[in-house]
Amino acid sequence: MASTGARCRVRAEAVGATGYLGCVFYWRQRQEPEAGRYGVEWAFTDRHGGVSQGHYGSLNLGAGVADDPAAVAENRSRVARSLGLAPAKLRFMSQQHGCDVHTVHPGQEHSGSPDVDGIVARGTSQGVAALVADCTPVLLVDRSVGLVAAAHAGRPGMMAGVVPATVQRLRDLGAVSLEAIVGPSICGRCYEVPLRMREAAGAVSPVTPAVTWTGTPAIDVAAGVVDQLTELSVPCSWVPGCARESEDLYSYRGEGQTGRYAGVVRLLPPLGGEAA
Ligand SMILES: [Zn+2]
Repeated sequence: MASTGARCRVRAEAVGATGYLGCVFYWRQRQEPEAGRYGVEWAFTDRHGGVSQGHYGSLNLGAGVADDPAAVAENRSRVARSLGLAPAKLRFMSQQHGCDVHTVHPGQEHSGSPDVDGIVARGTSQGVAALVADCTPVLLVDRSVGLVAAAHAGRPGMMAGVVPATVQRLRDLGAVSLEAIVGPSICGRCYEVPLRMREAAGAVSPVTPAVTWTGTPAIDVAAGVVDQLTELSVPCSWVPGCARESEDLYSYRGEGQTGRYAGVVRLLPPLGGEAA
């Protein structure tokens, strides 16, 4: 797989990755802690550097796609440890394409994967993750009060409002200074849908109607997510890349039986220590 490694290093530099650890992360950024301000590690994984075989090769993080559970556990462990977390401290969801949000409380690291599409944690003890293969992964942090979140926004989740629901939960918990990163997903030119479905998405977010490479109706789900964050006054950055066009990401539409990559985020304690 040496050639694969070379390929993703080149592409990672193109999107400005920092701290790149070979083929595990498609994009990764670390913002250092300051006095009274949490640091953050956030990243989007790719499909390289794991142990899964065949359709799932090789860094499949999805537990619900019929891959070998031991391989998924090892892959999740590699990602967690790359972020400096014990494997049990990186929390995943059992995603439903809905808009429910779960708050992880300290001491709940062994409580399984909640049936939600948004997950929120306070402080530095746990990281959170959203799994995707075409859908849009969204990461949120408030570095002043110490909150993190991950959301899984496919077309149904974007339309149901999982990202606004996650922002609301963070604000209910005291967030005052949110920022977001929107990860790579299937692009508007690759996500063909029936005309009526495009119209329905357009009624939710006017920026979502798109056109495929061949001129047929399509939806740009990530644009809808960025639109929703902007409406909520959450500044966001958008990592470029299309899951279907990239050889470094999993695409359900492109491959059918395939794995899942993830958006992952954790906080680092502020200089001077974390408030109790
Ligand atoms: Zn595309």
